[in-house]
Amino acid sequence: MLTTNPFEPFDPDGDKLREECGIFGVSGSDSAAALVALGLHALQHRGQEAAGITSFDGRSFHTHRAMGHVAGNFDRDDIIRALTGSVAAGHVRYSTTGEAVLRNVQPLYAELQSGGFAISHNGNISNAQRLRKELVRRGSIFQSTSDTETIIHLVATSSYRTLLDRFIDALKQIEGAYSLIVMTPEGMIACRDPLGIRPLVIGRLNGAVVFASETVALDVVGATFERSVLPGELVIVQDTPNGQEVRSIKPFAPMSPRPCIFEWVYFSRPDSIVDDRSIYDVRKRIGAELAREAPVDADLVIPVPDSGVPAAIGYAQASGIPFELGIIRSHYVGRTFIQPGDGVRHLGVKLKHNANRALIKGKRVVLIDDSIVRGTTSLKIVQMMREAGAAEVHLRIASPPTRHSCFYGVDTPERTKLLAAKLDLGGMTDFIHCDSLAFVSIDGLYKALGEPKRADIRPKHCDACFTGDYPTTLTDQDESADVDQFALLAERVN
Ligand code: SF4
Repeated sequence: MLTTNPFEPFDPDGDKLREECGIFGVSGSDSAAALVALGLHALQHRGQEAAGITSFDGRSFHTHRAMGHVAGNFDRDDIIRALTGSVAAGHVRYSTTGEAVLRNVQPLYAELQSGGFAISHNGNISNAQRLRKELVRRGSIFQSTSDTETIIHLVATSSYRTLLDRFIDALKQIEGAYSLIVMTPEGMIACRDPLGIRPLVIGRLNGAVVFASETVALDVVGATFERSVLPGELVIVQDTPNGQEVRSIKPFAPMSPRPCIFEWVYFSRPDSIVDDRSIYDVRKRIGAELAREAPVDADLVIPVPDSGVPAAIGYAQASGIPFELGIIRSHYVGRTFIQPGDGVRHLGVKLKHNANRALIKGKRVVLIDDSIVRGTTSLKIVQMMREAGAAEVHLRIASPPTRHSCFYGVDTPERTKLLAAKLDLGGMTDFIHCDSLAFVSIDGLYKALGEPKRADIRPKHCDACFTGDYPTTLTDQDESADVDQFALLAERVN
């Protein structure tokens, strides 16, 4: 049986897949930078390592980037006042590619022949290393280790004449996942990769055009949701004296979209709507599927807060077992606080999650969580339930086993650290010390999204971290040239 060191530092949020970035942009508002700061604050769950905002006042670009949260960096009047102009875009990040240093914090900015160019990117460019090597060989000088900078150099060195054509030329050379907001003197461009792996939506606010990774950020600034940016679509906004001129182009060959299914499992906030589906509603449906697929005789359904709550409500409603808050989460614990000395390190879990002892004693409980990554959180939560006197502890997971790494802009541990890649169901049950363990099936997950089941030939989503079926934008023409590179990458991350 595998064991974990009870004295190792424990970070409950560290045992999750982490979405790498959130992006937000506004064109056509006198308060553009302030709105971007608010929008980024609503997207903070998508990246907590660093944040940045760039504005454009019609003549000059202004940028402020900082390590840490949006609050604390962008809640100062002097910083927002210095970000002048009616156009602004920003970014919150963890790091997928590139180190956690200020030079990698976005928006990245460069002076090109055509003028300033600021880019905010959610996703990961999987052929960035190869492109970078080639660009460096041809004389490009990189300022960061971020994959996003590759786009800037591809635009700078493109042989096309107009900036838009240069940008499209760059996008046609990159592989992977990208939702982008680009600012140039000619306007703002927002786009999604041809598979639409990462989300991006458009809203309106008093005539201004707003782009955001999630609809919750539109809600927070008071913008109305207009629609999702379509996979492979470029939306170009120009700030003119007559208002915002918006046009849309689709320069790529059409492909079957593969949006990331993990947005519905965990990444997005439950009050967001992604690709016209309510995250909260889908999570409840996953819980109901789980109750049908993996019933258990129990007294209470208990969510692992906060991300397990909607699925637990769905499980409780479908099973008829009462839903109760058997674990209380403290909202006053930051990651950095969980660093006590050796003797009390193992208490870290209780700083964030504590058992509601009076409720649990003597009860058979079904714990509902959204996913298992390394399994360390599940082990400690089950242990906590037993110490609180639970008679039986059954664990139900509202996603299939996570067996593969992601290289589309999500921070996943290498495959050897994923519990489901190392152990079968029995091995995982032993490791976590629960009385029973079950995951929703991949077909059950698709059912919750309104599909009859997963289509094996053309699945409607990227679900590679569950299935190992990595989507690619390679066409037949370039497949032979790039397929080795793609296979190498898949091998490296797995
Ligand atoms: Fe999302 Fe998983 Fe695909 Fe990554 S591999 S994009 S986390 S579904």
